[in-house]
Amino acid sequence: MEDVFSLKGRVALVTGASGGLGRHFTRVLHAAGASVALAARRPESVAEDAAALGERAMAVALDITQPASIAAALDAVEARFGLCDLLVNNAGIAATRRFLDHDVADWDAVMGVDLRGAFLMGQEAARRMVAAGKGGVIVNIASILAERVVPGVASYTAAKGGLVQLTRQMAVELARYGIRVNALAPGYVVTDINREALAGEFGRAMMKRVPQRRFGTVEDLTGPLLLLASEAGRHMTGSVLTVDGGHSVAAL
Ligand code: NAD
Repeated sequence: MEDVFSLKGRVALVTGASGGLGRHFTRVLHAAGASVALAARRPESVAEDAAALGERAMAVALDITQPASIAAALDAVEARFGLCDLLVNNAGIAATRRFLDHDVADWDAVMGVDLRGAFLMGQEAARRMVAAGKGGVIVNIASILAERVVPGVASYTAAKGGLVQLTRQMAVELARYGIRVNALAPGYVVTDINREALAGEFGRAMMKRVPQRRFGTVEDLTGPLLLLASEAGRHMTGSVLTVDGGHSVAAL
């Protein structure tokens, strides 16, 4: 049987590749056969990972808040591997402050990366895919907080909610060019950054709400990412794939 999950011959770029999820995503796409650009604001932070992956990997400088940086990163990828036909819009930040204290700097920073940045990145990548006429795939990394709420993350929930709608908009407008756009919506995923917080009181309270009684691991996202990225998901566009152990559907 043909391997519908294979990414052989594809050229992927993962934003925020130095972070917990992004780092894993680059490895997954690479293992499935894609050439992979590990994009980070400080490319030296992913240089070792890129070197360890070998020939089909490169580190590239990218700040998704800067259109010139986006264009330069995609130029660099094209020069080395050819057109980027698989974008994982993974970079994201959060500000944790109650709504009444959420200031405009929090709002602008989070919106600037999680929504405006994903828009700028997706638009430039899609323009190039359209110009090349070969189609492509975009995976936006959303969150269950696109549809649900916990206190203290107003800009994040608003940005991720916007990202889900942007995903649907892009899917509808880009389908005619053979470009699929989907969102992956993880629940809480344990990474180096949140490991301590999730082991504490907040984490224990939150875990009671997860029917599987565990948080996600980056490995739990491997299959879902490959489904969206590969031919296995060829009839999927405009979808939001939730991976959360049942968290977002549980009443309590
Ligand atoms: P992380 O903080 O480890 O990684 C985020 C990455 O984004 C970092 O590498 C950071 O440098 C990069 N980044 C920030 N601003 C950037 C910019 N302007 N330009 C380019 N890169 C920039 O976080 P993570 O847990 O790996 O999260 C990755 C994605 O997954 C985010 O979009 C996050 O919202 C989402 N997510 C995470 C969880 C979780 O529990 N960890 C759950 C749901 C969704």
